[in-house]
Amino acid sequence: MSGTRSCGVCGHPAQAPFRAPQPEIAPDLDMRPGEPARSTLRDWIQICGSCGAAAPDVAALPAGALPVVRSDEYRLLSTEVLEETLPFRRWALVCERAGDPAQQAEALLQAAWAADDAAAMTEAAALRKTVADLWGGTTDIELGLRRLDVLRRAGLFDAAAAWAETMTKRRPDELARSIIAFQQARIAGRDIGRHLISSAVPPPAHAPHVSHGKRPAAATGFWSRLLRK
Ligand SMILES: [Zn+2]
Repeated sequence: MSGTRSCGVCGHPAQAPFRAPQPEIAPDLDMRPGEPARSTLRDWIQICGSCGAAAPDVAALPAGALPVVRSDEYRLLSTEVLEETLPFRRWALVCERAGDPAQQAEALLQAAWAADDAAAMTEAAALRKTVADLWGGTTDIELGLRRLDVLRRAGLFDAAAAWAETMTKRRPDELARSIIAFQQARIAGRDIGRHLISSAVPPPAHAPHVSHGKRPAAATGFWSRLLRK
């Protein structure tokens, strides 16, 4: 199986994409998964040993990525950005040039997490600002909640407060309202720290007597998946 995989850009043999272990702890409010998946971040992007192409699965890269990977802009990233963020920045550039801002934003947020892990706060904040800009027009409630966290953690408190108001006007459900209220309190306290989604939901959702049994009625679908831990 592994012998048949090759880089989509240059044809060099490629490994199977990394599969992160299932998280056992709740994710952060920006959806960074909990441990044990959390600390495998650096394995999420493959780098082709021949051409330097970066992607979660280099075998899935289109040949059209070739000019990007060969460009000066791509190459110069290695001298311009924090080393720990480089694979994610390269993958983000491939996504940007392919006209995929959604995937570009995810890649840049992962770069911000790598910067967090390296305690590079200025770089992390700058990356989050770009992610927030890329998500600026979203009407999706889940993405909107992640954007709220991204703005707050970038220290853009005025923009975060305004975005919280915008989201409140969209009549979010109870769980989303809880998360918005939690964020508003953090914004008021000028807190740029990371918090788990499980800290932001109403008390019954994470009280000890329900954590081993049934989940609260409000935590259905998307949210129940997030709150499982
Ligand atoms: Zn290659």
